Amino acid sequence: MSAPSSLPAPRHFIESRLVADLEAGRIQAPVTRFPPEPNGFLHIGHAKSICLNFGIAQRYGGRCHLRFDDTNPEKEEQLYLDAIAEDIRWMGFAWDGPIRHASGYFEQLYAWAQHLVREGKAYVCDLSAEQAREYRGTLTEAGRNSPYRERSVEENLELLEGMRRGDAPEGSRVLRAKIDMASPNMNLRDPILYRVRHATHHQTGDAWSIYPTYDYAHGQSDAIEGITHSLCTLEFEDHRPLYEWFLEQLPVPAQPRQTEFARLQLNYTITSKRKLKRLVDEGFVWGWDDPRMPTLAGLRRRGFPAAAIRAFCEAAGVARANSLTDVGMLEAAVRDEHNRNAPRAMAVLHPLRVLIEDLAEDHIEWLSAPRHPDREDLGERRLPFGRELYIEADDFRVEANKKYKRLVLGKRVRLRNAYVIEATDVETDAAGVTTLVRARLVPDTLGQDPADGVKPKGVIHWVEARHGVRATVRLVDRLFSQPQPDAGEADFTEALNPDALTVLEDCVLEPELAQAQAEQAFQFERLGYFVADRHEHRAEAPVFNRAIALRDTWGG
Ligand code: ATP
Ligand code: MG
Repeated sequence: MSAPSSLPAPRHFIESRLVADLEAGRIQAPVTRFPPEPNGFLHIGHAKSICLNFGIAQRYGGRCHLRFDDTNPEKEEQLYLDAIAEDIRWMGFAWDGPIRHASGYFEQLYAWAQHLVREGKAYVCDLSAEQAREYRGTLTEAGRNSPYRERSVEENLELLEGMRRGDAPEGSRVLRAKIDMASPNMNLRDPILYRVRHATHHQTGDAWSIYPTYDYAHGQSDAIEGITHSLCTLEFEDHRPLYEWFLEQLPVPAQPRQTEFARLQLNYTITSKRKLKRLVDEGFVWGWDDPRMPTLAGLRRRGFPAAAIRAFCEAAGVARANSLTDVGMLEAAVRDEHNRNAPRAMAVLHPLRVLIEDLAEDHIEWLSAPRHPDREDLGERRLPFGRELYIEADDFRVEANKKYKRLVLGKRVRLRNAYVIEATDVETDAAGVTTLVRARLVPDTLGQDPADGVKPKGVIHWVEARHGVRATVRLVDRLFSQPQPDAGEADFTEALNPDALTVLEDCVLEPELAQAQAEQAFQFERLGYFVADRHEHRAEAPVFNRAIALRDTWGG
């Protein structure tokens, strides 16, 4: 039995190890980092890593750094750095200190590379990429030593300096660690530390003609920052011996520890920046923050609250075994969050005119309705009611069987938050489609049943026509219609859901919705949760996105 502790209870194996480290006094406080490569926008998979790294620091009184892992200048852009920082803030986390960059450590990393050369533990190798592959061996066959492996320290130092200055053409030589070409772990077969790249870097400009590899830069950056727990996904497990080898060989100021956890994999979703970039570059979506995209910026725009994403990550947990998580779980977290907080409102997406003929032409009466069924703090809203209304085309039938609980010719329905009406007549167009419903108001039915005892069977939503505001509403759904879009033989773009986006231009909103702030969320009664588009919503021309329908229609 361990001694009683005042530390918060661990939620998963990484926190269990951390608590053990804290209790044993091996560390004073955790220092973690979130290390994105700025070569695309963050996606829902990154949210898991963000919640894990920042969450641990928060829960156990530590710090979490934001460090751009920017060692690959050709693929990186300032646009991505800015978007990533903004997404992390939006997720509700604050990094400790300044934004850090692996490129900020290039001088130190270079000095340590020289140190390895001086110790006889690194050498400049001139094998071509193809030759290097041959020399590397296979999983079942040992590799062979490079003919350049025994270069003298002096020659290596000079060649390395030349590479740095830009004397060597790209691909002509690399700096490699001298470890073991027969190691069963391929990562230890003299891995590359530096490549020649005559590229302009977004942070360091043209100062460097060589760039370190992830394997060389990452652990040393962790050490420089005093990271205690370097958390990464399982595919780096085989790199851990190399991570530790560098830390043993170099005079680093700290000894971080790498621990791996399972990536978040979601069905109906792609979590690969490379593939998401293809969707953007090839025009399948409008951009990285298209509301269909599983990027954090896309989910945000669609109307997924950061709190829901955090709750989802917490519920999904942190494990050591890969598994596939149901995207329905994320959607359910979004419903929960909005259900608690989103004010209710009425909007008609496919308007059908209703004329209540017994009301005067200019009759307008202001009704009131609660903004939320359980949140008195949100107060009441005022709803204009009058002779001309819109209802959903789908909520009216000339004839229907008993199961249909909406408005039928000759029958009654309750208008949500208002009166009972009875349909008396219809107008139709040449194609037989109903264009207008004539109705009468059943008197004294505000908040009570009709006095004649003929109760309506259902309740439908509506918007008064003169005050109603025309709007664009986008129905957003899952981006892919296949549970595992990248599992089969076919290209993952074949699995795109053609119905992921439906744009409706002629919707009508209750007037208050026009005043919504960008990103403000509402439940449109009976229709789902909608947010005012972050970029395009205007009071004069409202634009709403449906984050999620009220109920799961995918049957997950
Ligand atoms: P991608 O394959 O999408 O490019 P990546 O791992 O190359 O992902 P990075 O920018 O290097 O992207 O990732 C930053 C951090 O986020 C890393 O620590 C990485 O392990 C973590 N991460 C990336 N994808 C996931 C995921 N699906 N689940 C959990 N963590 C992830
Ligand atoms: Mg990466």
